[in-house]
Amino acid sequence: MSPQTLENPSRPFWESKTLSQMTGAEWESLCDGCGRCCLIRFEDEDSGDIIPTTVACKLLDGETCQCTRYKHRKRYVPDCIKLTPHNVGELQWMPKSCAYRRIHEGKGLASWHPLISGDPNSVVAAGISMKGLTISEDELDQPEDAIAYEAPDLSGDGGD
Ligand code: SF4
Ligand code: SF4
Repeated sequence: MSPQTLENPSRPFWESKTLSQMTGAEWESLCDGCGRCCLIRFEDEDSGDIIPTTVACKLLDGETCQCTRYKHRKRYVPDCIKLTPHNVGELQWMPKSCAYRRIHEGKGLASWHPLISGDPNSVVAAGISMKGLTISEDELDQPEDAIAYEAPDLSGDGGD
């Protein structure tokens, strides 16, 4: 069956629609607010791996893990990439736990996702959220100082 014909109204939208078929509100609700995509990353010159740090974009609120200027963020952070159904498969640095990436890869949502648990705090309880774990890039003397703040392993997809 083509993914473009997936709609099945008896199933929740994240199971019955492709990312492209979702409404704007459905798309936005997929974000669990983990904040992982807003971490400063650097590329390992030897391996080519993209390594996240615990340094966050200057617009991230480290406690709520929300972008403080989401609507106008490109004005302040021009290189912030807008995630779309079309580029989600190309952005290999996106966390494997990210709902958009998981759905794109056919994994569905994890049990800790708020749309499943009904509780936004389940993202924190599952150890997925960056709440309280980051410093702002504004606190660094030089942008390259971020390299000293390599994040703990965030490579997991968050499980089932
Ligand atoms: S990694 Fe995905 S789920 Fe987490 S904040 Fe970014 S877009 Fe939202
Ligand atoms: S501008 Fe906002 S959405 Fe973009 S990386 Fe920074 S905090 Fe995240």
